[in-house]
Amino acid sequence: MTDSLADLIDDAGHTVIAKARDFTQQVVAPQAAEWQNARTYPREAIRQGCQAGLAEIELAKTAGGMGLGFAPKLRAFEAIAAQDFAFAFALINQHNATTRIARDMAGRGVEGLIAQMRRGEKIGCTALTEPGAGSDFAAIKMRASKDGDGWRLTGAKAWITNAAVADVFICYAQTDANAGWRGIAAFLVYADRPGFTRAAPFDITGGMAIGVGGFRLENYRAEAAELMQPPGAGFKSAMTGINGARTYVAGMACAMLANGLDTAARYGSQRDLFGKKLIEHQGQRWKLADIATDLEAARLLTDRAARAVHLGQDAMLPAAYAKKFAIEAAQRGLAACVQFMGAEGLRNHHPLGRHLANAKLAAYTDGSTEIQNERIAQAVVERFAK
Ligand SMILES: Cc1cc2nc3c(=O)[nH]c(=O)nc-3n(C[C@H](O)[C@H](O)[C@H](O)COP(=O)(O)OP(=O)(O)OC[C@H]3O[C@@H](n4cnc5c(N)ncnc54)[C@H](O)[C@@H]3O)c2cc1C
Repeated sequence: MTDSLADLIDDAGHTVIAKARDFTQQVVAPQAAEWQNARTYPREAIRQGCQAGLAEIELAKTAGGMGLGFAPKLRAFEAIAAQDFAFAFALINQHNATTRIARDMAGRGVEGLIAQMRRGEKIGCTALTEPGAGSDFAAIKMRASKDGDGWRLTGAKAWITNAAVADVFICYAQTDANAGWRGIAAFLVYADRPGFTRAAPFDITGGMAIGVGGFRLENYRAEAAELMQPPGAGFKSAMTGINGARTYVAGMACAMLANGLDTAARYGSQRDLFGKKLIEHQGQRWKLADIATDLEAARLLTDRAARAVHLGQDAMLPAAYAKKFAIEAAQRGLAACVQFMGAEGLRNHHPLGRHLANAKLAAYTDGSTEIQNERIAQAVVERFAK
């Protein structure tokens, strides 16, 4: 099948996608099952991914990055997620934190930090969610109060990718308890400063390579120059990036499903039962046809959203459709792949169990399936509103 984003990807984009594929074969594929079993964060592999340039695809050239667009980033991270969503998600969060810190804090002395993040020596992440507020982001309680020309931050964050090890956090906080989303600002927070306490990594069903966890700030001092987005702009900037994030999560779900389908079809073409190959039983091969059809539809929706994100067009609805459909297709299809293979599908040297658990994680990251439903329902209802 020709790549429907091909016209958006130049030679430099093809080079980084090829690099992502090589890195996946050499580093991710051989270790993904081991990361799952050991239930640890693959710190060294994240560093290697950064060294391969995979955390600087969209980073501006002026900050030392490749300055490429969304389409090559999507394709590169799909290649990684085909082997391990959790690892791909951890690395893409490092990529995004690097890009945003460089963009929002240019000229404020972060060049050294950006260089360390590009080399994978420092890990970054983005902290919106709190123990008491997930989908309802405007309800966050992390408090930021003026302290001279700087700020004091107090509160807790939870469910943050890379928080298990991160050195720097893009941290959203409320500056005015009565202002709702208009009071939300973003700060650069350092883990080695007084007032920062890291929580133990969350023990979850699914890839521990994602390094998900939380932290607490107690009277933490942020300097004036560490205000990344002022009140009001913080909420808007978080929402601006969300359509791209929903689209790449959809792409990663497609990649997991494609890998699951290949695994099942390969096994089915070798397994004999009742005098023929598993794949020759019509009832079984039709299961694969259903999965392949869902996969095609998910890819079309994802690439449509990716085109809009890449070109800077309104991607809210395309991204919601893509994420909802691709995640549900992956959950349904991966479970069907396991069933297709019989008990063999449960064995951990196949990636199906890992993909299935990770498809469940993907159903929450960057807005749950219910939140996508709300976006889509709003558009349906608006058509009939007076
Ligand atoms: C693996 C993983 C990694 C994550 N990484 C990050 C990260 O890096 N940074 C970060 O800030 N957050 C991160 N999150 C948090 C994620 O964004 C939240 O889990 C998500 O926003 C949902 O919030 P919640 O889990 O608190 O569920 P809640 O908001 O408590 O929702 C509970 C249930 O209600 C549903 N629901 C919500 N709103 C509605 C509605 N209006 N109508 C009907 N149903 C509704 C939800 O879908 C869910 O099923 C991560 C989560 C996971 C699982």
